[in-house]
Amino acid sequence: MTRGVVVLGSTGSIGTQALDVIARHRDDYHVVALTAGRNRALLSEQAHAFGVPAELAVSCAEAPEQLAALARNPEADVVLNAVVGFAGLPATIAALEAGKRLALANKESLIAAGPVVAKARAAGGGEIVPVDSEHSAIWQCLRAGRHTEVARIILTASGGPFRGRTREELASVTRADALRHPTWQMGEKITIDSSTLMNKGLEVIEAHELFGVDFDHVDVVVHPQSVVHGMVEFCDGATIAQLSMPDMRLPIGLALGAPDRLPEPFGAIDWSTVGTLTFEPPDLGTFRCLALAYEAGRAGGTATAVLSAANEIAVEAFLAERIAWSAIAEVVEEVLNAGTGSADEVADVLAADGLARERARASVQRRSEA
Ligand code: NAD
Ligand code: MG
Repeated sequence: MTRGVVVLGSTGSIGTQALDVIARHRDDYHVVALTAGRNRALLSEQAHAFGVPAELAVSCAEAPEQLAALARNPEADVVLNAVVGFAGLPATIAALEAGKRLALANKESLIAAGPVVAKARAAGGGEIVPVDSEHSAIWQCLRAGRHTEVARIILTASGGPFRGRTREELASVTRADALRHPTWQMGEKITIDSSTLMNKGLEVIEAHELFGVDFDHVDVVVHPQSVVHGMVEFCDGATIAQLSMPDMRLPIGLALGAPDRLPEPFGAIDWSTVGTLTFEPPDLGTFRCLALAYEAGRAGGTATAVLSAANEIAVEAFLAERIAWSAIAEVVEEVLNAGTGSADEVADVLAADGLARERARASVQRRSEA
């Protein structure tokens, strides 16, 4: 029996790499359903290649309710959520309520709605296996000891294209500069998030939600080579790390098949060429977004939903060249300061998300007129 996989966001960076993994392992996996945002041409090409009937290859930009419906498909064993942004939330909840394995790339849904997602997981008996490379690394490192023996989690960050620059030097960077990521080829939103270190901030919150470790015990270290993806330090001082060359097909394959590993290597290291691996602390003064994410995580409630929603709007505005790069952190901070609340039900999260977007749009508008 092959495992059925639903690929949500199949036309994106993660989605296409997941289909590449599945195509190489057709004896183990088959594709049950596919969704994309607007790229219908690629979606129908994929549906044809993987034998997915037209009614199960859906463009969800116009039919967002389809995402959750497809995540509940009874033929699916694994739901890969590779949609970008808060739009992925209904699928995350639906997959877990239906008792599926959720291979989670869409970190924004977990960050916005951690407690609600945890409830869905408990109610439906679903499980989350992270696709994000750092969290996949930590998931692997955690196998080396007991949960009670974990001293801290260490997330590595490439530092993005602006590592080492000062605030003054970053005042005039362009969209093209910010999209030039040194080590990973990814979608535009996460690439901008990597340039501001908001991606690492979101990942700190993601690690807290996935592994139940408090914010004082999730650290970030800048490691420009992106070879060490994550580390766990245990109580006796031992640090276990996971290393591989940057290739998302490794964590995607593990999320699909866990606890089994793929039989073929992606990103295996050639030690004769890997060279020097370096580590340095992040510059929280210049990369304010990382500090804001820690603050939002510690505040709890809807603060993480507000952080993520304001960031989505600010990044969109930066990509549209309406605001400066440095304004991304300013918009997020302004919206966070406007207030947050408690987030026990999905309705709380939806309301907080909506209000944060409204406030962020107003902030963007003001800045683009200035
Ligand atoms: P991407 O922009 O390349 O792809 C996004 C996919 O989602 C596309 O298929 C798009 O059509 C679809 N989509 C966009 N808006 C949608 C909407 N409103 N409703 C339904 N579908 C929609 O993005 P990506 O780089 O593949 O990232 C996807 C997710 O994975 C993000 O949450 C990102 O943070 C996470 N992630 C990505 C990488 C990476 O290497 N690309 C690594 C770690 C985590
Ligand atoms: Mg990551």
